[in-house]
Amino acid sequence: MKSMDEERLVEAVRLVGGAKRLVAFTGAGMSEESGIPTFRDPGGLWDRYDPDELGGGDLFSGLLSGSAVPDTTFQFISEFLACYEDARPNPGHDALAELERMGILRAVITQNIDNFHREAGNTDVLEVHGNVCRLSCMSCGAKVRLEREELVAMGHELLDLLGAGDLAGLMRLISRCSCGGACMLDVVGFGEPVQQMPQASHESENCDVMLILGTSGVVWPAASLPVRAKRAGARLVEVNATECCFADIIDVGIVGKTGEVLPRLVELVKTGR
Ligand code: NAD
Repeated sequence: MKSMDEERLVEAVRLVGGAKRLVAFTGAGMSEESGIPTFRDPGGLWDRYDPDELGGGDLFSGLLSGSAVPDTTFQFISEFLACYEDARPNPGHDALAELERMGILRAVITQNIDNFHREAGNTDVLEVHGNVCRLSCMSCGAKVRLEREELVAMGHELLDLLGAGDLAGLMRLISRCSCGGACMLDVVGFGEPVQQMPQASHESENCDVMLILGTSGVVWPAASLPVRAKRAGARLVEVNATECCFADIIDVGIVGKTGEVLPRLVELVKTGR
């Protein structure tokens, strides 16, 4: 971090240490140091695959009606699985979990689907774009939680079945609900309605300090949450590795990696500096 950012860190520590209702709003940058590519990384997963061509929620309906899986979808699932399998929460996630244990952090609102905030130990997590470690039944709407190991095993089995064109096996794999219905990953595709937005808006409008972490702020309506917090009187602290994307409305902006800045911030809050 540059010395100017060190000074801003001290100001951030003052705001976070004095917060009565701190909320964190996180994006893909938060998991970059875990090995999950961000949405806008040049050469990253999303740079090479067009989300509109991947099938999204239509994938299984297409399969069940006998359509072949496009090669790009197959490759995308393989690549995502390969990086997810080895990825783990990083020190930035751990720092947010510590802030919750310290009784300072009220909630995490995340755009990420990787389950890392829960894996790190945060318990109040609002996942506006869903979570890959949760399935949703297409028949009754019930939600089924998956352990990371179950998700990875399911991903590998899915690839094998898709490769073999085994439709019956595929049906068995996804029929996981107690009602017998087929389940999909509970993630929000492009153009689909976001999840838990009323709760996320409530937390944003009732916090006194919001941390904005590793997000480019271009995906709506999630990106409206810092604006809601600001309008309701909250102080905003942003940490971003390249530039502050909410520069017009933030009180403190730090250019640095969340995996490096957040652990230091927590240490300084603990020592009261
Ligand atoms: P984005 O890719 O648009 O922006 C990421 C931002 O994080 C950039 O501004 C970048 O400068 C910053 N950044 C990168 N590495 C960082 C680091 N180590 N520390 C701090 N900042 C860092 O991401 P977005 O704004 O979250 O929007 C992308 C959408 O794609 C979201 O809806 C998200 O759910 C989804 N997505 C999720 C994951 C995940 O679950 N991990 C990964 C990729 C995309």
